[in-house]
Amino acid sequence: MDLQTVLHKDKLNKEDLVFLLGLTDPQDLQAFYAAAYAVKLEYIGNVDFYRGLLEFSNRCIKNCRYCGIRRGNTEVVRFDTPREDILHMARWCYENHYGSLCLQSGERQDEAFISYVEGLIRDIKRIGGGALGLTLCCGEQTEATYRRWFEAGAHRYLLRIETSNPALYAALHPQDGHHEWQVRKDCLDALARTGWQVGTGVMIGLPGQTLEDLADDILFYEAQNIAMIGMGPYVVHHNTPIGNEVVAAGKDSPADRERRLRLGINMVAATRLYLKDVNIAATTALQALHPLGREMALKAGANILMPLVTLPRFRTQYQLYDNKPCLEDGQEECKNCLASRVASIGDRVGWDQWGDSPHFFNTLDRQP
Ligand code: SAH
Ligand code: SF4
Repeated sequence: MDLQTVLHKDKLNKEDLVFLLGLTDPQDLQAFYAAAYAVKLEYIGNVDFYRGLLEFSNRCIKNCRYCGIRRGNTEVVRFDTPREDILHMARWCYENHYGSLCLQSGERQDEAFISYVEGLIRDIKRIGGGALGLTLCCGEQTEATYRRWFEAGAHRYLLRIETSNPALYAALHPQDGHHEWQVRKDCLDALARTGWQVGTGVMIGLPGQTLEDLADDILFYEAQNIAMIGMGPYVVHHNTPIGNEVVAAGKDSPADRERRLRLGINMVAATRLYLKDVNIAATTALQALHPLGREMALKAGANILMPLVTLPRFRTQYQLYDNKPCLEDGQEECKNCLASRVASIGDRVGWDQWGDSPHFFNTLDRQP
């Protein structure tokens, strides 16, 4: 297959995606990323949007076999960020022109949690008269809960499918009836029906995952009419079943990490080339594998950054994977550091804007 021919095709197919995802030659990668960045310029512009990421609680009823805050990890001290601190950070985001806030937590489905989040959304939407765009990332919920949170004023929801391959999903989760691929997919459908701008994504470089799986993930985004993509490399957490298996198999060497980083960037570039007008995040997991991981992703087509605004005293207790960056930084450092990273690649920050996915508005006729 010839790279230039593939890069100039109007519509890529699965074979093309597998070919692109498997590229490793530095010159090929340069041409691939440049083509994806050109699509970003055409459909989005050289502008990157911020969502302040507030990890407000690490309590979780799930036991995902890869995740550092899984229920079974008793080394983690569980925390809830006090309500006034959450509102303080939301106000900080507004005053610092972030445009949007993303509230993330472990998964809870009890009424106390649901109504707590509902009240929080209403209070956050009062700041600046509804000025802050609000994304939620709080796991699987019933359609009724998604509707309550949407009606309270949040409008974007992130729920990663983790992998579009149900067999691989099963290997990554306990088989206890509470970690079902189909339920997760049904949640994505329920979110779309309820009116949310829906985001999903996958982990990249998982044990047992093939390039075909990753190409299928991109086709899955298309089939679900997904507006926002948040995906990143799988990163080992030392105190998890999958992390232990990967380390025991000798598959977490520097070369393995480099491969997962490259695959992560290749996924960003291939998704930008294929889906064109969606929002794509340059996720923190990229930076856990390489100090410049997020800049590389912005240059390969990503357009969303999520600076941490989690309270510094809770950051060490919200480690989904090892080497989480910015553990020591305050929100001021994260803000300034990211702004210079954006400028370093020739982009600018879309201050004070929600930066919604153009894809959502371009496909309103296809929303359920
Ligand atoms: N509980 C919510 C949100 C927090 S977890 C949920 O699961 O949706 C957010 C994301 O972190 C997950 O979707 C998963 O893709 C990612 N994650 C968890 N463990 C990880 C690891 N070891 N490496 C990379 N990403 C991980
Ligand atoms: Fe909980 Fe999300 Fe981690 Fe799964 S990935 S254990 S749902 S925080």
